Amino acid sequence: MPTHLKPDPTSPGKKGAVEAKPAAQEINWSDFRDHLGTADREGRRQWIYPRKVIGRFFRWRTWFSWLLLAIMFAGPFITLRGNPLLLMNIVERKFVVFGQIFWPQDMIIFAIAVLVFVVSVLVFTTAFGRLWCGWACPQTVMMEMVFRKLEYLIEGDAHQQRALDQAPWTAPKIFKKISKHGLFYALSFLVGNVLLSYIIGWQQLYQIITDPPAQHVTGLSFMIAFSLLFYGIFARFREQACTFICPYGRMQSLLLDENSIVVAYDHTRGENRAPIKREQVFAERWQTGHGDCIACNHCVSVCPTGIDIRNGTQMECVHCTACMDACDNVMTKIGAPRGLIRYASLNGIERREPLRFTPRLAIYSVVLTVLVSLFAVLVFSRSDVEATLLRAPGSLFQQMPDGHFSNLYTVKVVNKTSRDVPVELRLENPAGNLQVMGTGNIIVPSQKLAEYSVLIELEPAAMKSGATPLFIGVYSHGKRLQNLKTSFLGPRN
Ligand code: SF4
Ligand code: SF4
Repeated sequence: MPTHLKPDPTSPGKKGAVEAKPAAQEINWSDFRDHLGTADREGRRQWIYPRKVIGRFFRWRTWFSWLLLAIMFAGPFITLRGNPLLLMNIVERKFVVFGQIFWPQDMIIFAIAVLVFVVSVLVFTTAFGRLWCGWACPQTVMMEMVFRKLEYLIEGDAHQQRALDQAPWTAPKIFKKISKHGLFYALSFLVGNVLLSYIIGWQQLYQIITDPPAQHVTGLSFMIAFSLLFYGIFARFREQACTFICPYGRMQSLLLDENSIVVAYDHTRGENRAPIKREQVFAERWQTGHGDCIACNHCVSVCPTGIDIRNGTQMECVHCTACMDACDNVMTKIGAPRGLIRYASLNGIERREPLRFTPRLAIYSVVLTVLVSLFAVLVFSRSDVEATLLRAPGSLFQQMPDGHFSNLYTVKVVNKTSRDVPVELRLENPAGNLQVMGTGNIIVPSQKLAEYSVLIELEPAAMKSGATPLFIGVYSHGKRLQNLKTSFLGPRN
């Protein structure tokens, strides 16, 4: 078995661009903390040319990303109970999640949903590190599974891309660059339109697309600019979106502990690293005092963020598993067990402990359970119709010729369902007369907000001095949906 030497804290590292280097190359092991993997010592950006990855994790990630992409592209066309799967209509302030329509009146549900999301991220990251980043983050999925693959297809693997960039501007180079960037922009435009259909719905998007462009100049300009932003991110900005923009990576140091499962290099097994000699039998390698890492740098050369995982968990690591695949391939070739780089916790590596349910994880889980329960109660108990009653602006009270007093109100009724709903307002207490102005019956169209003026009359005997509390029932098909409370103004005695 390999030696179990403690890691050298000043150990591994990489220098400069990250394509594979000869194993025996002299490397300054201590400089990785002084600058980003994508920048040189002067802070200038270093372009990353990650090599193609082959391996089981990449294969699983590819299938998973196809599934996610299929959901993303098909999402606007999928309906549940007559509503889209997901719609974020900010303009009309209407939101649909899994076919359920939410209005600004459901703000409390939205606030709880945000809390559920934040705590889920805490729990998940504490337990499993940045699994989300590597497997499901739209930035990683689009970059690694779509744009990067297109780049390989047009420009070839890392060394060919590097050679192409350094070559003079010949016709084939110009053709390749125009093809790549043209395709990148077209894809960005397509993605931009798909995202827009999550905001305005595919029917409206289709209408805009089929109308003459002159009718939607502003919208088209916005879409072109939006697509340019996408294009810029995937063509140039790339891994820097994860390093500089995304706050999630920066939260790692707060959320991860020695029990979190992360993509980790098993230093107890890999050190003391050294190149393997051609004639060396791997099973006898431990006798020489060397670990399993043969310092081939394959794990570095495939990393899209330009880091060396052997330096330990780093902010730049998006847990894409490329280094795991690369190292597994190397281990298989030299006849060593796979998993020198694997999903593991620090305690799992150093003490061989399995994933532990720590007190921190337990507290997060309890909070999450409470929030999810609250969310479920709010969602399943919310009514299909919601009314708000407000005094008409600037109105006080009026006395009628017959001595009755009247107050004018405005009622707003939101219909959250996909069918028209008849609504009736009844004055429950005190006895009096309630009249919806201008209409006999209120029929609120599906998914719409309707507004009506309501006149309420009371006899002086039923009134209190100043303000009289009023209780109004909101009914549909004879069933009470909601109770409204307001006050009726009158003279002070
Ligand atoms: S791929 Fe594996 S063996 Fe090669 S340098 Fe990385 S950790 Fe060491
Ligand atoms: S260190 Fe490994 S898992 Fe992390 S980003 Fe680089 S290749 Fe991906």
